[in-house]
Amino acid sequence: MKPDEPHGHSHDHHPHHTHAHAHGHSHDHPHDHSHLSEQEVRVRALQSLLTAKGYIDPEAIDRIVQTYETDVGPRNGARVVAKAWSEPAFADWLARDATAAIASLGYHGRQGEHMVALFNQPGQHNVVVCTLCSCYPWPVLGLPPVWYKSAPYRSRVVMDPRSVLADFGLVLPDTTEVRVWDSTAEVRYLVIPERPAGTQAWDQAALASLVTRDSMIGTGLARPAHTMAKPSGARA
Ligand code: FE
Repeated sequence: MKPDEPHGHSHDHHPHHTHAHAHGHSHDHPHDHSHLSEQEVRVRALQSLLTAKGYIDPEAIDRIVQTYETDVGPRNGARVVAKAWSEPAFADWLARDATAAIASLGYHGRQGEHMVALFNQPGQHNVVVCTLCSCYPWPVLGLPPVWYKSAPYRSRVVMDPRSVLADFGLVLPDTTEVRVWDSTAEVRYLVIPERPAGTQAWDQAALASLVTRDSMIGTGLARPAHTMAKPSGARA
């Protein structure tokens, strides 16, 4: 990595964790990995009680959580990306004021108060991490995946992003510059992957179907056009 890259993990200059606790979201600091937060304890106690009394099915709850982790949340971000690919004026707004542009689609709230969009382009790839905990743009991506919160990802992606990306199956040309961005309690990043080739005529719903969660974190790319069964116009 070149020293002028905006990797931002030099902790001397950003106010990450001095503000993070006041911010009130659930953190996974290394020193408190070994026990559950009070909120987690309460949730588990409640779940156990309701399960024992037969009111809820834990498997159903797991499925709901899974849905929010992998489906509902990231689909919001995918719509943002598809709109940016389709509408230059929106892309421009997103580049200037991502918080407002994203809120215009109804995606706002906790963990999305100050959004920054990072546009991938030929020769330049962006990847996002929270080096010290798990800051993540909930309104557009939902809940962070387990690996995003893991110590190995948080440390290795800063030191050796290419090898981490390779672990995700993403091998970038040596000529592509990899920029690593460290999320903070104040700033959350959304990567705008490059638009796949061969999608010029596609509508936004079809385009959004190519946008994966990982492509908006930067550990993946948008899926190629041929991976979608049905081309554009047919979809609402
Ligand atoms: Fe964090």
